[in-house]
Amino acid sequence: MATKLTPEEAKERKRDRNIAWRLANIGRARERLRRWCLANPEKVREHNRRRYLADPGKARKRSVAWRLENLEKAREAGTAWRKANPERSRAFSAAYRGRRRAAQEGAPVSRDPAILDLYQFANTATSAPCVYCGLDPGPGLREVDHAIPISRGGAHSMDNLAIACKTCNKEKGSRTAQEYRTSLAYAGAPTAAR
Ligand SMILES: [Zn+2]
Repeated sequence: MATKLTPEEAKERKRDRNIAWRLANIGRARERLRRWCLANPEKVREHNRRRYLADPGKARKRSVAWRLENLEKAREAGTAWRKANPERSRAFSAAYRGRRRAAQEGAPVSRDPAILDLYQFANTATSAPCVYCGLDPGPGLREVDHAIPISRGGAHSMDNLAIACKTCNKEKGSRTAQEYRTSLAYAGAPTAAR
């Protein structure tokens, strides 16, 4: 074995040895990888992001398949994520409800990620007045309204969404933004300048 290896050959041999070691020590390899992942969350995120962007359809299929095989773990991971990202999680649920309602009514549904940001903004912004009455009830008391209600064919999309206070949103009911504004004007209430 005195033959000198080229750098490529040496690299290849090292890789083969690594693979052989991993196959022989699958438990330890997994444990080592798990520790490495825990210590390098940024790198893991970047790796996952690249893999996702390379083929989103395939990545989703893989993820769904994994979740079906690991129901318990998937549930635990979901709980942990929600605990670590309460605001995002709340926005996610609210946006999902809107999307599902629109889908049930056969209304157009947009998957624009800005929608999620809007829901989160409505929940958390220090200042975001209601488009109808102009008052700002503060974080946690605002809702995202469909200007043209889903029940009347309105889309779940950015151009049909607005931030409203809970009172206005409830009172508006199944009226369009325009109908509700008119009723507010008749009632002598000031309407927001929008
Ligand atoms: Zn209002």
